[in-house]
Amino acid sequence: MTVATPTLTKLPNYINGRWQQATTTEWLDVSNPATGELIAQVPISTDADVTAAVDAAAAAYPEWRRTPPEDRIQPLFKLKQLLEEHIDELGRIITQENGKTLSEAKGELRRAIENVEVACGIPMMMQGYNLEDVARSIDEMMIRQPLGVVAAITPFNFPAMIPFWFLPYAIACGNTFILKPSERVPLTMRRAFELLDQIGLPPGVVNLLNGGKAAVDALLDHPKVRALSFVGSTPVAKYVYARAGANGKRAQCQGGAKNHVIVLPDADMAMATQIIGDSAFGCAGQRCLAVSVAVTVGEAQTSFRDAITNAATSLRVGNGLDEGVQMGPVITAQSKSRVESLIAMGEKQGAKVLLDGRNSKIPNYEAGNFVNPTILDDLPVTSDLADTEIFGPVLSLVHADSLDEALTFLERSPYGNQASLFTSSGSAARRFRYEAPAGNIGINIGVAAPMAYFPFSGWKDSFFGVLHGQGRDAVEFYTEKKVVIERWAKDHSRKF
Ligand code: NAD
Repeated sequence: MTVATPTLTKLPNYINGRWQQATTTEWLDVSNPATGELIAQVPISTDADVTAAVDAAAAAYPEWRRTPPEDRIQPLFKLKQLLEEHIDELGRIITQENGKTLSEAKGELRRAIENVEVACGIPMMMQGYNLEDVARSIDEMMIRQPLGVVAAITPFNFPAMIPFWFLPYAIACGNTFILKPSERVPLTMRRAFELLDQIGLPPGVVNLLNGGKAAVDALLDHPKVRALSFVGSTPVAKYVYARAGANGKRAQCQGGAKNHVIVLPDADMAMATQIIGDSAFGCAGQRCLAVSVAVTVGEAQTSFRDAITNAATSLRVGNGLDEGVQMGPVITAQSKSRVESLIAMGEKQGAKVLLDGRNSKIPNYEAGNFVNPTILDDLPVTSDLADTEIFGPVLSLVHADSLDEALTFLERSPYGNQASLFTSSGSAARRFRYEAPAGNIGINIGVAAPMAYFPFSGWKDSFFGVLHGQGRDAVEFYTEKKVVIERWAKDHSRKF
């Protein structure tokens, strides 16, 4: 089933509690990746628009900071309710602009809502600590205070979930917030901010600024922006981290990934096949936690290879709004041709193409950016492709003779977003947990996405910073510690 295209064309920004057009003359087209249909135009906001958003957030900050935490979370309870009520509508918008299936879209909305729920615990989570009598009659306490104006810059692949890794914690901690969503998927946040407009936040507490690199640079250079959260590709994450640091700002920057799963011969092969298949091909491989390389050990080589090839062959690819579709398109035509050229590169570098998803033709969706599930066997571990993020529905298979050899292969990877192991051995699982060089670990799990009350712990080139998104790390990131040491001499003149 398809839904009517939203009527809005030129998308506004939401600044100081009002929808307003950007001052720019530059607009980008936003297209439905399954149909190729134009669905909106997004402004490339200018320095003047960034200044307006920062000024609004800065003006709202003093009063919002003074608002008791208990009062600051009341709008978040309303937001949870509204997100629940609009989950189907928001899910359809996500599918229309991103391409993932409706059930995947609703799945990411559940994760967004979970972060709102966790941020409602700020009155507990934001507490500091104290100790009486650190010296005779001297007491010491640590209190947490918000930073001021903070901003987040988010990617195309989770139009709803990723902005909500940041927004609820930032404002519950007493900061005021600017979101710069991906210019490729601006419609989900347009609708989410219409909901945010209804929850009773004072003007300027949350602001939506559409745009691209120019807006990011202006946020990075604006003296009133205290902290930036970034999620996207590694080169941009590195750039944002360096420029934020040079400007004295706090930054947490999540980058790209190349995730490995090791399949031991004692794994439950049916379960492993289903879960790894979902991880590699779900969201058309455009998850930063998608398994991209499966390292089979010993006899798992043939059993897993045959099973996963069978499973991938039967996946139904199409428009994510159509009933029964299991995998949608990739985000743009450029992305499709990039993925196809990386498949060719793998083949040239020695891999065997077991299942070839290039030149996909989906009836009725000839203009869509489809790449079918692809499996490359025997990818040489020293090939360029072994270290390259593909971000499409391509699973490479590599063979190792032992867990040792498989772990050595993981060590080589520049990325460390996720590593998984499939086994029925507790001791192999413990060793893997102990030694695997990644920050999000799955044991018999294909997408090891931490729940909102745990940090999203990328390592190596998948993360630049110290404090991660979500949970307690988010509270640390969005607050500053202040330590107070107090001595009060006894006042003998007072009678009470
Ligand atoms: P991207 O890096 O192209 O864009 C991300 C954001 O940065 C967008 O808002 C974009 O407008 C902005 N941007 C792009 N180029 C910029 C530049 N030169 N200077 C300043 N800002 C710039 O990423 P994408 O294609 O939207 O998303 C896919 C990437 O994100 C993949 O590499 C994926 O692995 C990664 N990702 C990582 C995580 C994680 O948790 N580590 C989560 C999701 C996605």
